[in-house]
Amino acid sequence: MNTAGIIGGGPAGVMCAIFAAQNPENKIFIFDKNIILNTLLPTGGGRCNLAYAEFNFKDLAKFYPRGEKFLYSVFSRFCTQDTIDFFNKTGVKTYVQEDLRVFPVTDSSKDVKNALLKQIDKKNIKKVFANVLDVKKAADGFEIVTDKGNYPVQKLVISTGGKGIGHSIAKKLGHNITELKPALSALITNEKIFTPLSGMSLKNIKAQVFFKNNKIKIPEHASLGDILFTHNGISGPLIYRISSYCAYVGFDAQNPLKLVLNLVGQQNSEFDSIFLEQLKRNAQKDVLNVVSCYIPKNLAAVILKKCGIDCGIKAGQLSKKDREKIVQNLTSLTLHAVETAHGEEIVTAGGVDLKEIDSKTMESKLVPGLYFCGEVLDIDGLTGGFNLQNCWSTGYIAGRTIAV
Ligand SMILES: Cc1cc2nc3c(=O)[nH]c(=O)nc-3n(C[C@H](O)[C@H](O)[C@H](O)COP(=O)(O)OP(=O)(O)OC[C@H]3O[C@@H](n4cnc5c(N)ncnc54)[C@H](O)[C@@H]3O)c2cc1C
Repeated sequence: MNTAGIIGGGPAGVMCAIFAAQNPENKIFIFDKNIILNTLLPTGGGRCNLAYAEFNFKDLAKFYPRGEKFLYSVFSRFCTQDTIDFFNKTGVKTYVQEDLRVFPVTDSSKDVKNALLKQIDKKNIKKVFANVLDVKKAADGFEIVTDKGNYPVQKLVISTGGKGIGHSIAKKLGHNITELKPALSALITNEKIFTPLSGMSLKNIKAQVFFKNNKIKIPEHASLGDILFTHNGISGPLIYRISSYCAYVGFDAQNPLKLVLNLVGQQNSEFDSIFLEQLKRNAQKDVLNVVSCYIPKNLAAVILKKCGIDCGIKAGQLSKKDREKIVQNLTSLTLHAVETAHGEEIVTAGGVDLKEIDSKTMESKLVPGLYFCGEVLDIDGLTGGFNLQNCWSTGYIAGRTIAV
């Protein structure tokens, strides 16, 4: 009989346990200091965005700022369709939303959690509610040291996510940990003029990002999306993606990240002629009302204030210089991000170095019998179900390897 200890009962650890237990000879333990699968509950705003409906494994891997190449091999073994099939079999029917995000039909992460817990019980996987403090190498495997006693296991899986003890255990066992950084996070900006707009969202904004005058390469699909003004900066899906691509840029108050946002979807000269025409047609209207045809009125008022233009001035009286200032702000609104919002990140970039992991088995290349899955690895995806897909896929591979 093989004994395997899985440290971390999040989505990755649980997926691994379910597949490792397919071999009835295996005795599987999941250790968690918190309630198993509670990290699943807030996902997708409580709806659990469990995958993304891209079925080609290479195209799916493009949505991961870190881990793309490694995931080719992982996703070629367990990809989106496998995730959907797996959940169907466990009693979770899914549907694909217009934006290709996959959810359970009940829109409830609690239902996903309960279905997985049922599998754990059905397969006699033992849950150990304990804080893992350390791992020691033993003659026949490992000894897991917890606040509730020590557990000898032959195989060890680390699936403690982006913030757990897993990184220090991996380091102690000889692994390199790439620098950990917040990703998918809101940004704090210098421009306090937008503070009163906190809570306002804008759709289909196109962004360009610069650091020290160099343009940051952000894939086309990731540079268009919705934004949300916050009390101290800017957030929303587009900003989350930008934060992920800029996780290692090293911006700060001295060297901020320059975000150039196109609010109207047209280039400067193209929009200028459209706007000029609009001003002429509405010459008797307040300029505020004309600008409000393109963006929400509160934002229009802030932009006019930023340009030093009186909101009450008639459209027909606007000077060419002031018109150009407005056009510049609507086509290239510039904000300076000085840091990420503290502790609000959705995932951690960085983790166990992928060079030291066999993508076909998820086993350590340095320590036989040691496996990793989920966010503890140096893999992070964009918003859209990609981070959970990483957990299902790497968890499945680690589990299957242990099962045979
Ligand atoms: C608000 C929010 C919403 C999200 N929404 C989505 C979404 O809709 N779709 C998506 O794809 N991704 C989403 N994510 C990301 C996704 O939830 C994570 O990537 C995923 O949970 C990582 O799973 P994991 O199993 O690797 O680690 P985790 O889920 O972090 O689980 C790790 C487990 O290890 C345990 N642990 C840690 N240290 C110890 C220790 N010393 N002893 C014992 N146990 C320990 C923890 O208690 C935890 O249960 C969201 C994240 C957040 C924060």
